[in-house]
Amino acid sequence: MNGQFSFSKHHGLLEQQQKDFFAVRVRTIAGNLTSAQMRKLADLSDKYGNGQLHITTRQSVEIHWVQEKQLACVFRETHDSGLLLAVRGPRILTTIGCPGIALCKQGVCDTTDLAAQLDALLVGREQPGKTKIALSGCPNSCAKPQINDIGLHGVVVPAVVDGCDGCNNCVAVCKVGAMTVSGCVPSVSADKCVGCGLCVKSCPKQALAVEKHGYAVYIGGKIGKRSMLGNKVLPFIPEREAVSCIEGILCAYNRLANKGERIGDVVNRIGLAAFQKELL
Ligand code: SF4
Ligand code: SF4
Ligand code: SF4
Repeated sequence: MNGQFSFSKHHGLLEQQQKDFFAVRVRTIAGNLTSAQMRKLADLSDKYGNGQLHITTRQSVEIHWVQEKQLACVFRETHDSGLLLAVRGPRILTTIGCPGIALCKQGVCDTTDLAAQLDALLVGREQPGKTKIALSGCPNSCAKPQINDIGLHGVVVPAVVDGCDGCNNCVAVCKVGAMTVSGCVPSVSADKCVGCGLCVKSCPKQALAVEKHGYAVYIGGKIGKRSMLGNKVLPFIPEREAVSCIEGILCAYNRLANKGERIGDVVNRIGLAAFQKELL
């Protein structure tokens, strides 16, 4: 490859193992594309690729088998149609997310809206190391926040109100044994509760309510040659504070990290307590 597209190594361009062919990677907002964008991607693949599209594990879409001489056209058409190129290297990469409360019956937070905010604000920002963010709408963690540098999943804090008739629906749906009902008096074990909110949704008498909803926050997860599970550093933040919380984690990371270190590497080197102190 000549130098013309060297910048694009960091912006949605990957060299294939087949000499002189490239993959152009387009990012999505939490996996969402309009039908018009999908048609455009299909057209681009027909015109410049091999007529196929590849969905990556991080919700991006790749057009393969693009020749170098055609890259400028692909980039121009991608840009003109409002599609966003993915990002690589030591910077904030595409935020991935599940559908969250916008679609999923179990969702308690609006992951799609948060992903759009983070995409506009953060994607492509230079960092000491690669920084991946994942958002899940509930503790089921379908977007795997625990194996991302920064991961959030939705949580609720349930509260008991009046009107219980002792039907035990809430006990049946609670998968972690946090809900008990004695007579017609429900009780939630705060130690066991994971904040899924299913008890509230299952109650026919509205005898349970959501006291507050927001996100649990993990840092330092990653998958690769040295995989790590993230640490839950904040068990609850209000949904409206998610962006500022992520900004705070990034500030601490930038202050503490050596070049090339990911958040998990910093946590391993200085200890979780020291990282949390910096966050505070
Ligand atoms: S994490 Fe929860 S809200 Fe998101 S898709 Fe899975 S079950 Fe639905
Ligand atoms: S919110 Fe979920 S984990 Fe907590 S008590 Fe209700 S059902 Fe159980
Ligand atoms: S589901 Fe509602 S009414 Fe039924 S036992 Fe639980 S709190 Fe009581």
